[in-house]
Amino acid sequence: MFEFSLPQAPLQRLDLPWLRRAGIEGGILRLDLIDPLISGNKWFKLRHHLLAARQAGSPGLISLGGNHSNHLHALAAAGQRFGFATAGLLRGHPQDTPTVRDLQGLGMELHWLGFGGYRARHQPEFWSPWQARYPGWHCIPEGGGGPAGAQGCAQIVAQCQAQLATLGWADYDAWWLAVGTGTTLAGLVLAEAGAHPVHGALAVPLDHGVPALVAALAGESGYVLHDASRGGFAHIDATLQAFIDETERHTAIPLEALYTGKALMALRDQVEAGRFAPGTRLVVLHTGGLQGRRGYL
Ligand SMILES: *Cc1c(COP(=O)(O)O)cnc(C)c1O
Repeated sequence: MFEFSLPQAPLQRLDLPWLRRAGIEGGILRLDLIDPLISGNKWFKLRHHLLAARQAGSPGLISLGGNHSNHLHALAAAGQRFGFATAGLLRGHPQDTPTVRDLQGLGMELHWLGFGGYRARHQPEFWSPWQARYPGWHCIPEGGGGPAGAQGCAQIVAQCQAQLATLGWADYDAWWLAVGTGTTLAGLVLAEAGAHPVHGALAVPLDHGVPALVAALAGESGYVLHDASRGGFAHIDATLQAFIDETERHTAIPLEALYTGKALMALRDQVEAGRFAPGTRLVVLHTGGLQGRRGYL
């Protein structure tokens, strides 16, 4: 059970002029620092898949993603570290990105599905040929999404609570984090069980549908969603880029544009709109993903 146990992410003070002006105290849980290769929320999301694969005696792990995928990157690194073969099913046609080069270097076998082939991933028969090709391998949904992923993310709350004293805090008032599939958000909401509200900043516009994992939380209270997408998942504009540069200058905390930069910018907008009362203590979750930015910054 201790195998694949998660490294402790440090909780640090987040000091930014717009937080100070609003009288808000910020902390940031740095999942980006847990490991040089298996970064961010992806290790938390993978943990229960790794345990299940070990228990079943699976020789390998297989999953899917795009050519900058933080999830496939973490999976390839975890496979190499813990002795599993890995295979990645990629969206689109063969491309040479820093992420793809790392996947190959980490020993992941790559299959390019094209765009149509990738779109078929939700169909019931999608996995059969891959299960035939890789018998006994453990299949992980896109992005590590799903209940097994959320179960691993519940651990994030305990990691934060164990370190509050380093900020001189007895307690905190709310979480703020970036949301893709909603798996990480679901893990926090389940672990908090209503004790502290969880604010999710959506990297994908809501009109693409509520992420499945968030929809599965219907009936749970204790979370709030904000659109942080700026018009689309991969949309990076000059205002966002300037905000990231300025934030990095103030804090020396690196951000990427697709998730953490957008989430923090949406937080600034909410703070400046007076959403949080002075004295509020906010914990921002740094979900990592920095390897991906080599491809587009
Ligand atoms: C994958 C990822 C997310 C989204 O996590 P979900 O659990 O899918 O919501 C957020 N931030 C970063 C940096 C990521 O790589």
